[in-house]
Amino acid sequence: MNQERGLRAVGCRHLTALKVAHKMSRLSFAMSESELHLRTPFNEAFRQLAGHRKGFKPDPAAIEVRFYPYAGLHHTIRVRAGRVFVRISDVFRSAPPEVIRALAYLLVARLLSRKPPQAYEQLYRAYAFSPDVLRASDLARRQRGRKVVSTTNGRVYDLNRIFLRVNRRYFDGQIEKPVLTWSRRKTRSILGHHDAAHDTITISKTLDSAEVPEWFVEYIMFHEMLHIKHPAKIIKGRRYYHTPAFRTEEKSYPQYDQAQEWLDCVIRSQREVRARAA
Ligand SMILES: [Zn+2]
Repeated sequence: MNQERGLRAVGCRHLTALKVAHKMSRLSFAMSESELHLRTPFNEAFRQLAGHRKGFKPDPAAIEVRFYPYAGLHHTIRVRAGRVFVRISDVFRSAPPEVIRALAYLLVARLLSRKPPQAYEQLYRAYAFSPDVLRASDLARRQRGRKVVSTTNGRVYDLNRIFLRVNRRYFDGQIEKPVLTWSRRKTRSILGHHDAAHDTITISKTLDSAEVPEWFVEYIMFHEMLHIKHPAKIIKGRRYYHTPAFRTEEKSYPQYDQAQEWLDCVIRSQREVRARAA
């Protein structure tokens, strides 16, 4: 009857040996304010281009615009369940507002099969083909071409598969897939990390081990995905990542208690180690 507990303890001891701590929370951050501002030109473009005809005019709050670390200069726009997902090459992070506005019109026009205003096309091209931007996108292509693809498939677990399963089971497949990656090193203090600015979930390579049960890796992925679903709230200049809505949903996870036991056990034994060392 103690078999399960026994196995759990073994797994936990293993993790303890690797000194894993639950620090996921503090390091995550949400869609930046600058990204929230990106919504406005897209909202405007929808209203302009859809015209008075029965065109698609999404609610402004249903437009999500993010910078994305594409390899090279590339932008996408997609509609899913009434929500609009826009990804702008992060090479455009420092683009002036009028260029972003032009890009918004081009992307929305493409989506609605409308002709974009010619002036916007010229504005976009003038910026996209300027020497600085060309250089930056070449660099992104060279640096990212290989890196991003090779890191989802670990020694034991494939983050892509884990993401898809967790998304299907707990989010109705509604979470847009971010960049998924194993940490390059066996980070011992961070199990998972969601970086909203770069739309990336990083999972510690420490968890890519046959000694770590799959459900625990899934739980860490679930936690990080909740950060996408529940962006941080800014109250009086402070960011709150684990909002009550976040916590409530996190607790609905079937192995929540078991996962907390693992984390507790890891943290507790870490403290003991520290106390003994002091
Ligand atoms: Zn967190």
